[in-house]
Amino acid sequence: MFIGHFGVAFAAKRLAPRTSLATLVMAAQFLDLLWPILLLLGLEHVRVVPGITKVQPFDFYDYPFSHSLTMAVRWSLAVGLLYYLVRRYVRGAWVAGGLVLSHWVLDLLVHRPDLPLWPGGPKYGLGLWNSWPASISVEVILFGAGIWLYLSSTRARDRVGVYAVWSLIAVLSLGWLVAVSGPEPTDTHQLALGTLGLWIVVPWAWWADAHRENSR
Ligand SMILES: [Zn+2]
Repeated sequence: MFIGHFGVAFAAKRLAPRTSLATLVMAAQFLDLLWPILLLLGLEHVRVVPGITKVQPFDFYDYPFSHSLTMAVRWSLAVGLLYYLVRRYVRGAWVAGGLVLSHWVLDLLVHRPDLPLWPGGPKYGLGLWNSWPASISVEVILFGAGIWLYLSSTRARDRVGVYAVWSLIAVLSLGWLVAVSGPEPTDTHQLALGTLGLWIVVPWAWWADAHRENSR
């Protein structure tokens, strides 16, 4: 899953109005922000197997630290606790922790059975990536609904508050289109470096959110 995770982050602004969109995005994508770092460190592995699913060609055969359920629960508790210690905003802490876990649940929907319950444990995945229409609809519905909720619960304080948020939405949409329809990366090092680029979204979301205020 790609833009669907961002949809959930945008939507969460309504649940935790005082939490920055940057935190929400970072939490919802925490496992995928961690993953390229673990790949580059050689602690996790992926290989390209063209045709392994219809939508994307990667075989995620070894990612226990970023994508096993028990580790996702730990990351979720760690992020929620850290957020509470820094901000003292209980609601925001629950939402940030919940978002980390939401990533695993949404990945479960689209991945092949490659998501382990615990490192080395049995693997699950409902495999929506085997259907183009189902994958595209889930991503578009989550992303669209999330943006709508975010835009209706905040309003721009100035022009930057409009441009920054719409350019973020455009870049995410474009990134997703390239990921699903662009040329398949053959080299996994390149894939890891490309995924590392996701981090740019965090300061971008902070910038957009700092120029908006809650409308209710
Ligand atoms: Zn993931």
